[in-house]
Amino acid sequence: MRQTYAIIGLGRFGGALLETLIANGQDVLGIDINEEHVNEYRDIATQVVIADAQEDDVLRKLDIASFDHVVIAIGHNMQASILATINAKDLGAKNVIAKAENRTHLRVLTKIGADLVVQPEREMGERIGRKLLAPNMLNFIELSDDYSMAEVQIVNPTFTGKTISELNIHKKFGLNVIAVRHEGEVIVAPDSKYKIHHKDILSVVGPKDMVDDFDQMTN
Ligand code: ATP
Ligand code: ATP
Ligand code: CA
Repeated sequence: MRQTYAIIGLGRFGGALLETLIANGQDVLGIDINEEHVNEYRDIATQVVIADAQEDDVLRKLDIASFDHVVIAIGHNMQASILATINAKDLGAKNVIAKAENRTHLRVLTKIGADLVVQPEREMGERIGRKLLAPNMLNFIELSDDYSMAEVQIVNPTFTGKTISELNIHKKFGLNVIAVRHEGEVIVAPDSKYKIHHKDILSVVGPKDMVDDFDQMTN
């Protein structure tokens, strides 16, 4: 689905985000106060604008409320990040995602109404930590404090050659297998009679500790 995005701040974070969205066929407007940063994305972005997002009228003139998503990717200049977020929300922007530099910044951005606040350095640190602790877990999403979803690669031979129902994944771990990736092919909502092969990747949903246990056992 093609959606529209406005990315304010084209540093490393905003730039990588813009490239990813463009590579996947989305409409992206890039905004930065720095002409050099804007020029880096001029040829690939749908549109670029050199402007100071702190200024009241800048986001209004860009009709910021018309975008499906607005990302405030300004880090160091906390004042600019906060003002751009307030301006975007005041103008009626729907889904505002803001990047925080630290905990205080995160609290402020949440308080002023950002719909989602991310802290990339912290989140990446956690992710790498998890990866080191659980090398078979390819992907991990926290659904709530208690539940998570993960992609777990099956390498333990006692798990291969058996069906999902024979392995009792639901009864033993309380997990639901929602998809299986086998040699690059994805099987969504696999039948319980599906036989698991070596190196199959199972997407499982359930209690966090059970997801961790399952990952350890299939190791
Ligand atoms: P990253 O980690 O993504 O590289 P950063 O956290 O180090 O970024 P900055 O470099 O301070 O944060 O800001 C990211 C981008 O935001 C820069 O390209 C910067 O020019 C731009 N920027 C800063 N202030 C404003 C502003 N008021 N309006 C528009 N863009 C801005
Ligand atoms: P982050 O984005 O993770 O907050 P950063 O990219 O802004 O970090 P710095 O703050 O410069 O990077 O460095 C991260 C940490 O490394 C700091 O705690 C700093 O004290 C420490 N550090 C910096 N230089 C050295 C050094 N020469 N030896 C040991 N530690 C160092
Ligand atoms: Ca940074």
